[in-house]
Amino acid sequence: MTPAPWRVGRKLGRTLYERKYTDQPSDEDRFLGIMDTREDAKRVVGAVNAVARIRQIHQPDPNPRSGWNSDDDPSEYGTIERACRECGATDMAVPWPCPTIRALGGDDA
Ligand SMILES: [Zn+2]
Repeated sequence: MTPAPWRVGRKLGRTLYERKYTDQPSDEDRFLGIMDTREDAKRVVGAVNAVARIRQIHQPDPNPRSGWNSDDDPSEYGTIERACRECGATDMAVPWPCPTIRALGGDDA
């Protein structure tokens, strides 16, 4: 399922909520705040949910893969124990955390 951890409030359209359940709005969703306009609320929710979708795609592969091991020594081609399952072709794995996840602020943020 595509993650959408935040949503806009159903009545005002300017409130922000963190979903308790990912598939439907709930009275148990956590109120986060209110924006000046509906457009601002949609933009914030859209950005948060886009980051969540990117993080869902870029995950560590449970299996070792082959690729370039080191940015320092480009001749180091071999097994990468922890690689991104999305980045790179099957024979060119990218070490985890991949550049996309690093750009988003690490693998645990
Ligand atoms: Zn990646």
